[in-house]
Amino acid sequence: MLSIEALTKRYKTGDLALKEVSFSIERGQVVGLIGPSGAGKSTLIRCINRLVEPTAGAIRLSDVDISKLGRTQLKTMRRRIGMIYQEYALVERLTVMENVLSGRLGYVSFWRSLARRYAQKDVDKAFGLLERVGLSDHVDKRADELSGGQRQRVGIARALEQDPELLLVDEPTASLDPKTSRQIMRLICEICRERDLPAIINIHDVMLAQMFVDRVIGLTAGEVVFDGPPAELDHAA
Ligand code: ADP
Ligand code: ADP
Repeated sequence: MLSIEALTKRYKTGDLALKEVSFSIERGQVVGLIGPSGAGKSTLIRCINRLVEPTAGAIRLSDVDISKLGRTQLKTMRRRIGMIYQEYALVERLTVMENVLSGRLGYVSFWRSLARRYAQKDVDKAFGLLERVGLSDHVDKRADELSGGQRQRVGIARALEQDPELLLVDEPTASLDPKTSRQIMRLICEICRERDLPAIINIHDVMLAQMFVDRVIGLTAGEVVFDGPPAELDHAA
């Protein structure tokens, strides 16, 4: 499904953020990426969607090497990868529904379709996703009227609107209180299992990772130092 082979990233500053990192992920597997600050977790996630250019190595998603794609192909590839962000990255003055629709259409075509109204099938689909994340009563609220947990639920629905093959999740609970964090992690992991959708979740909180993910990959100083089921983490530490 996703296969990372000897992925290395050296920043222009000289920082070696990833050192020949290799692992692969099967369909439906939810992976928690843990490690201290500066370990390379964000760099790894950003290499997979090419927000950061890898220095060496391969990143294969269903046999396409993402690290070799040109600009146009990369655009198509990014539509196959769903992103969920720490700070939600919602458009504040748009409604919940509009934020979810923007996930499918991309911002530019979204604005065009806003002028012409949306296709009913896209609205129906977005509504289904909002029901799944528990926001069907809030579809017409503006994003800036929502709580942090509700905002992240919108972020989840938006990422799913494009039917991704892979979900990349960057510290989804960093801005949330402990109870909401558990709810959001549970929701993301349940949805991935329902859809057989593989995910990599950059999660600072090891306890949260242990509660919900199938597999933990531990990074330290750019190297994989642990890879296994969460239950084995205690013995490794
Ligand atoms: P984490 O997400 O685990 O905290 P990062 O991927 O952010 O780790 O950082 C890994 C290493 O790469 C750190 O040494 C960090 O300083 C360095 N780094 C991250 N982003 C950049 C950048 N844009 N330019 C230079 N060095 C960077
Ligand atoms: P995180 O909490 O995600 O690890 P960081 O504080 O490491 O965030 O990084 C915040 C931003 O600064 C990121 O965009 C990262 O790429 C950039 N960054 C981190 N370390 C460096 C660095 N040494 N030089 C330049 N940019 C960096």
